[in-house]
Amino acid sequence: MNRLEEIYACGEKKDNTHTRIAFSEEDIKGRELFSKYLKELGYKPYLDEAGNLIARLDGLRNDLPPIIMGSHLDTVPDGGKYDGVYGCVGALEVAEALVEDGNKLDHPIEIIVFSDEEGICFGKGLLGSNAMSGLPMEGFSEKDLSIDGKVRKDVFGNYGFCVDTMTKAARERSAVHCFIEMHVEQGRILDKANKSIGVVTAIAGVKRYEVTVVGETNHSGSTMMSDRKDALVAAADFISNVPKIVNQYGSMFGVGTVGKINVTPGSMNVIPGTCQFSLEIREQTKEKLDLLEKQLFEYLKKACYETKLDYKVKTVADYEPAPMDERVIQSLQNICENEKIEYQKLPSGAFHDAMFMSRTFPTGMIFVPSVKGISHAPGEYTKLEDLENGCNLLFKLVQVLDKTNFD
Ligand SMILES: [Zn+2]
Repeated sequence: MNRLEEIYACGEKKDNTHTRIAFSEEDIKGRELFSKYLKELGYKPYLDEAGNLIARLDGLRNDLPPIIMGSHLDTVPDGGKYDGVYGCVGALEVAEALVEDGNKLDHPIEIIVFSDEEGICFGKGLLGSNAMSGLPMEGFSEKDLSIDGKVRKDVFGNYGFCVDTMTKAARERSAVHCFIEMHVEQGRILDKANKSIGVVTAIAGVKRYEVTVVGETNHSGSTMMSDRKDALVAAADFISNVPKIVNQYGSMFGVGTVGKINVTPGSMNVIPGTCQFSLEIREQTKEKLDLLEKQLFEYLKKACYETKLDYKVKTVADYEPAPMDERVIQSLQNICENEKIEYQKLPSGAFHDAMFMSRTFPTGMIFVPSVKGISHAPGEYTKLEDLENGCNLLFKLVQVLDKTNFD
């Protein structure tokens, strides 16, 4: 697991922070180092049309589609050592162990580093897995501008691929046996329960809205309380009730967040005429997601109508929940029970490359605990024994999945 440290060091900046934003110099350095590890083990890594870094280990029957395992190497600004990297390094170590064991798998193995998972550079992520799963690639234009003012066309060109041809990275359902991603949990569930392994059941669906409450701007001194149409008061009533509504109607993993708010005109002696805010909800099933949406907007309607205000809701993102493959979940549970590994079934509240992959291919995810649930921060940490348990589980899992019929 020294490789985790070495890849982390590739993102070191002068101010002692560590960042490997996709397509940056540091990201390229991290990928080159990972390619070096692959080459040292005799692999011939290559980039596909969407910038995914891929290496293949032959099986006994190369007419069969590969078992793919991996994750991403790019990070958020000043992120941690483990997010994404663990899934790539873990996949490499499992492939290494398979070879040492005289690799008896029928299926070939592919180790993958997906391109631009975090989406920091252009504000839109999961690029490589979106392309590979063959799903429509919305929101990726040649003309997109990066956070440092570069055009996507040029950035991709330097990286070795282009927007026009990236959909060619798509694979048919029959061209992949299954996909497995190992990742740090990034939440506190496993750490609190003191479990070494998380068997992921689904990746939460997400809906994001832009809500605008429209009242009436007026003088704060001369407008009687009974004559006011204060957009912020109605918005505040709604926002303070979001946790109550989510707790009442959501599953135990349902979450709702207002993360951004803008009040106009924004003056201390003027009654707010409009209040615009973001709302995001996440749930494990479509039914629960729809129920949360319905209950939240019924409350908003009530809060606005009581005070004779208007409101508008614009849906800005809508991702359906992504259940993991039942056969993979069951295999993970069986192995954990046989090996007496402490595990827990749990959903993922965060997005992963497995979300897109699961829409086309049989997909599963293994989580290891994040101490104190810290992630996307320098304090991200997973104990060595948990990292090793994850790798041992993945090693056993690929041997079971090699014999699993996914048709
Ligand atoms: Zn990640």
